[in-house]
Amino acid sequence: MSRALRALPSVDVVLRSGAAEPLIDRHGRGEATRAVREEIDRLRQAVRRGAAVPRADTVAELALAALEASGRSGLRPVFNLTGTVLHTNLGRALLAEEAIEAATAAMRGALALEFDLGTGGRGERDEHVRELLRELTGAEDATIVNNNAAAVLLVLNTLGAGREAVVSRGELIEIGGAFRMPDIMARAGVRLVEIGTTNRTHLKDYVAAVGPETGLMLKVHTSNYRIEGFTREVSARDLARLAAERRVALINDLGSGTLVELARYGLKHEPTVREAVAEGADIVTFSGDKLLGGPQAGFIVGRKDLVAAINRNPMKRALRVDKLRLAALEATLRLYRDPDRLAARLPTLRLLARPEAEIAALAERLLEPVARHVGPTFQVEVVSCRSQIGSGALPLEQIPSEALSFRSKAGGGALNRLAAGLRALDVPVIGRISEGALLLDLRCLEDEAGFLASLSGFRLEEGGP
Ligand SMILES: *Cc1c(COP(=O)(O)O)cnc(C)c1O
Repeated sequence: MSRALRALPSVDVVLRSGAAEPLIDRHGRGEATRAVREEIDRLRQAVRRGAAVPRADTVAELALAALEASGRSGLRPVFNLTGTVLHTNLGRALLAEEAIEAATAAMRGALALEFDLGTGGRGERDEHVRELLRELTGAEDATIVNNNAAAVLLVLNTLGAGREAVVSRGELIEIGGAFRMPDIMARAGVRLVEIGTTNRTHLKDYVAAVGPETGLMLKVHTSNYRIEGFTREVSARDLARLAAERRVALINDLGSGTLVELARYGLKHEPTVREAVAEGADIVTFSGDKLLGGPQAGFIVGRKDLVAAINRNPMKRALRVDKLRLAALEATLRLYRDPDRLAARLPTLRLLARPEAEIAALAERLLEPVARHVGPTFQVEVVSCRSQIGSGALPLEQIPSEALSFRSKAGGGALNRLAAGLRALDVPVIGRISEGALLLDLRCLEDEAGFLASLSGFRLEEGGP
């Protein structure tokens, strides 16, 4: 044993071996030395347990592999074949090429972010998207913050701090990621007044609750669930009338919100921001990276005096949007000026509206090569499935799609090992397991060649059937 341990090559010897050259070349002498030392420590344990003594070259190769693996970013691109188009855990909306170009230019050079090119004086950072938002929503004014959660927080704090906010019990939702309406209201400093019941809230409930202490009424689009059956909610139009009469602000948190009529693209109608503004809400809030298809952002549109007050709140500075996203947002919003070409240019809409026949043809093309790559342990076939929009938008809407389905001929944990093998690819492939099969929903697969290239590195994880 001690002779074996003494035979382990030293750090010096490993670094002078031929295989150490690429290691030092790529990572520098300091990193290489550290990695080799760690590798030798690890191998010493292995030798104690009876493993053979490795050669210096082998140690250098192992150190190189370890460095390359740890150097790979955790923020890796993946193929989202989960069937959820706006997958929050996979980064939600994919940006349009126009938005990517704008963000890239904003990263590379200086830009007139808060600079008025006409006068040479100071400009406003939000000005770049303010006009576009007014035009696309019909609102008097608009401002932008980090995300819609921030928008709700900022609006509540500005218009309701120290006062009461009236909300229907049916709309006190949890969005996920610890965003619960009652908690956000508490942090915003407003006193929550719950009215009605979970399934039914009437106008008379609002009428009874609004009093001298009321700062605002909040309507929340229950984007991620639906109560069916014996239900009643009060329309935004009726609430707007009451709010105007009692001189309190009506806030409508639309959640996803969309700037276009989705029915036009074969999807179900979702309230548009323009409709919400026209119904008379004083302020409407919505997200940038849900159905809108842009970068993460929160939009606040509505009455000019209220938007001005929101902009004066010191919290606004803490929640502001950076130049990259502003550039991408402006480019994304511009695409909405040309609705005829929107579905072709905006990936979110393009993927949601992608014809099933096109997805089916892709599935047929992929069936044979994919089956070959994953090997004979699995029975692979093309099946019909249902995609979802995701991110709480139209939660019950199911869009017909096509998937590659994998069933294990070996049973047991084979499907989990298949899923793990797909996640271990150079560009990991993320599917979903449903009813004893692993499904790869092909709705969001546009880079067919890249997918096959990545799949060629497939290995079934250790302990395979
Ligand atoms: C998604 C959502 C939010 C939060 O929006 P983010 O952009 O994710 O911060 C707030 N309210 C509703 C109703 C939502 O659906």
